[in-house]
Amino acid sequence: MKAYVTKSGAKQYKPSLASLNRIISGDNSTGYCLACGKSAGGVEPDARKYECECCGAAKVYGAEELVLMGLYH
Ligand SMILES: [Zn+2]
Repeated sequence: MKAYVTKSGAKQYKPSLASLNRIISGDNSTGYCLACGKSAGGVEPDARKYECECCGAAKVYGAEELVLMGLYH
């Protein structure tokens, strides 16, 4: 995960495109929390704003959704 700063000044994390492609070509049920950078299992490819089990933020997105939004490095 790579840290970056959003337009609003919050620190967030984004995964690499390679790791997203691995998920999409695999079981495609893993997402990432943008707030803390942890991966989450059992997440649909198009999931948006799921609650993170680790930090509690509603910032878990599915792998395909992250690619669509350009949130990777
Ligand atoms: Zn989190």
